[in-house]
Amino acid sequence: MATLKGRTALVTGSTGGIGEAFARALAAQGCNVALNGFGEAGAIEELRAGIARDHGVDVVYGGADLANPAEIERMIVAVRARLGSIDVLVNNAVTRHYAPVEAFPVEKWDQALAVNLSAAFHTIRLTLPDMKKRNWGRIINMSSIHATNVVRERVDYMTTKAAILGLTKAVALECAQTGITCNALCPGWVLTPHAERQIARLMAEKSLSRELAIEELVSVRQPSGRPITPAEVAALGIYLCSDAAANISGAALPIDGAWAVT
Ligand code: NAD
Repeated sequence: MATLKGRTALVTGSTGGIGEAFARALAAQGCNVALNGFGEAGAIEELRAGIARDHGVDVVYGGADLANPAEIERMIVAVRARLGSIDVLVNNAVTRHYAPVEAFPVEKWDQALAVNLSAAFHTIRLTLPDMKKRNWGRIINMSSIHATNVVRERVDYMTTKAAILGLTKAVALECAQTGITCNALCPGWVLTPHAERQIARLMAEKSLSRELAIEELVSVRQPSGRPITPAEVAALGIYLCSDAAANISGAALPIDGAWAVT
């Protein structure tokens, strides 16, 4: 895909899971990539060097804590200095906490708003001027099936995943007459480290094989009966970066094995 070759992407929360899959998929298209997220320094360096080596692109790591707007700004300035202006922005990082509303710790609520929502506002406001100058940009915000399909004890997640759809539409409208698109992806149950922890818990609780635990977890969610892979989510994002997707903006695209229709 000529569109992405030589461009620069920032993927927040890309030290694992869907963000890592995005970073790999963008690099495979010839895009230079800035990684972000928490993790053990050695493992992050291995990931960074591995993606650069596998795809012959420049990969840098910016360790900003996305709860801190000043750190976000410093990271974006540093990425621009090392890789050039950011053309593709994937707002993917997430924090999660599970508790009923009345017992939900205020600091966890504030953290979720900062990382899952405000960080995307900051990365967008700080990268849009460069995108506008080049009249090209792709912004992808990670939402979730839980923006619309409600579950208990996840008030932080549902609120921020619904709110990011509003942010997506607002940015899409303001950019409608430019070469910049802004869309949200709404995955169902994806085989990420987060899902792996759910699988391990169920295997231990019910003495199940991995296969049966996955089957039980998927069957109550996705009519497809199949988990989604991080690579499938990233592939949808790559399509949104293509010229063919230039007129898709402001959308909330499901990738959920038909979960949303239940
Ligand atoms: P994950 O939990 O595996 O990774 C989250 C990333 O965010 C990590 O790299 C982590 O270090 C980073 N992060 C967390 N707090 C941060 C902070 N303060 N500053 C910087 N980085 C921070 O995530 P995942 O399960 O791959 O999900 C990725 C995205 O996809 C999220 O937005 C999530 O809501 C969405 N999503 C995931 C699923 C799923 O099944 N896993 C389903 C629907 C939507």
